[in-house]
Amino acid sequence: DGAAALELIQAHIRDVPDFPRPGVLFKDITPLLNHPQAFAAAVAGLVDPFRAGGVDHVVGLEARGFIFGAPAALALDAGFVPARKAGKLPADTLGQAYDLEYGTAVLEIHADAITPGSRVLVLDDVLATGGTGRAAVDLVRRAGGTVVGFSVLMELSALPGREKLSDVELHALLSV
Ligand code: AMP
Repeated sequence: DGAAALELIQAHIRDVPDFPRPGVLFKDITPLLNHPQAFAAAVAGLVDPFRAGGVDHVVGLEARGFIFGAPAALALDAGFVPARKAGKLPADTLGQAYDLEYGTAVLEIHADAITPGSRVLVLDDVLATGGTGRAAVDLVRRAGGTVVGFSVLMELSALPGREKLSDVELHALLSV
C-alpha cells in the first residue's frame, strides 16, 4: 500500500552529513536507485498524481532529475526533456538564470523541446531553496508549455522552496 511504499522509499535515502560542504545534510538517493522495488515505488509515486490529467513532456533537472525523469516519462507515455546547466545542450537553447548560495547559474532547455500548449511535469529528486525548480518552471512557460506540476521525492521543509513555487502544483513524496 501507499504507506509501505513511502517507508520503503524513505529507508533507501541515506543522510550524509557535511557533504558537499560543512553544515549540509546531503540526501543521497543512490541506495534507492540500487533497490529495484524502492526505485519503482519512487517513480510511481512521482507520476501517479499526474496520470489522470495527461502529461506531454517530463522535464528532468540535471543531474538526478534525469534518473527519475526518464522512467517517469515512459510511465506517462510522455517525452523526456533534459534541463541542463549552461553550455551542455548542443542545439538552440532557452536559458534562465537563478541564484545560488554564492553567485548565479543558468539552466537551459532546447528551444524546440516543449510543444507550445503542451502539458509539462517538472521533476527532481530534492527541493531545497527552490531556485532550480523556479528556473525550470519559468523556462517551460517561456517555451509555451503549461506546467501541470513539480514532483520531487523529498522537500526540505526548513527551506523556502515551497513558497518560491507557490504558483505551481507541488507534489513531494516525503517532507523532512
Ligand atoms: P534548490 O535549487 O536549492 O532547490 O536545490 C535543488 C537542487 O540541489 C536539486 O537538484 C537537488 O538535487 C540538489 N540539492 C539541494 N540540496 C540538497 C540536499 N540537501 N541533498 C541532496 N540534494 C540537494
